[in-house]
Amino acid sequence: ETFELLDFLGMFKVEVQQNIAQSRDFQVTTPDQPRTVQCDPAKLRHILRNLIENAFKYSHNSHKQPELKLSYEGIFFEIKVKDYGLGIPKSDQGRIFESFYRGSNVSNIKGTGLGLNIVHELVLAMNGKLDFESIENVGTTFSLRFPYNFNYEGVE
Ligand code: ATP
Ligand code: MG
Repeated sequence: ETFELLDFLGMFKVEVQQNIAQSRDFQVTTPDQPRTVQCDPAKLRHILRNLIENAFKYSHNSHKQPELKLSYEGIFFEIKVKDYGLGIPKSDQGRIFESFYRGSNVSNIKGTGLGLNIVHELVLAMNGKLDFESIENVGTTFSLRFPYNFNYEGVE
């Protein structure tokens, strides 16, 4: 399926504001130029929903709002989801994509530990790449990278 990224993110932002953010806001930054991508929009929505849900959930104690940033990188597009929350302790960072794994600093926050496991599988199945950087008590940034045409053979 083919769709335009800026329209997609505009609708996604409304959906997040209505269902996830509640009274909190988040910033969406995009380039001005529209770009068409070919992938399953329902899967991309699922991936972004999980990342932004985590960003809100694990930054409840923060006065800074989560951010979503789109950029175009050659034949790929990149979406970063950034928060200024609890962060992921170094000792947990190797395991967060495992099913049912939950960080040692989140035991008082509800969750099953399945969200990222499914997201990771979906991203790989779509020839994409998922990375993150996190510092405990500073924040976390997840980076998603996809070819515009998801049939392209892999992301370097
Ligand atoms: P759910 O299955 O309901 O999403 P969950 O949020 O605990 O439960 P994942 O989304 O898979 O599970 O995340 C796994 C773990 O990674 C979390 O329990 C948390 O420890 C850590 N984590 C993920 N995203 C963040 C984030 N933005 N900030 C801090 N920790 C995070
Ligand atoms: Mg989660």
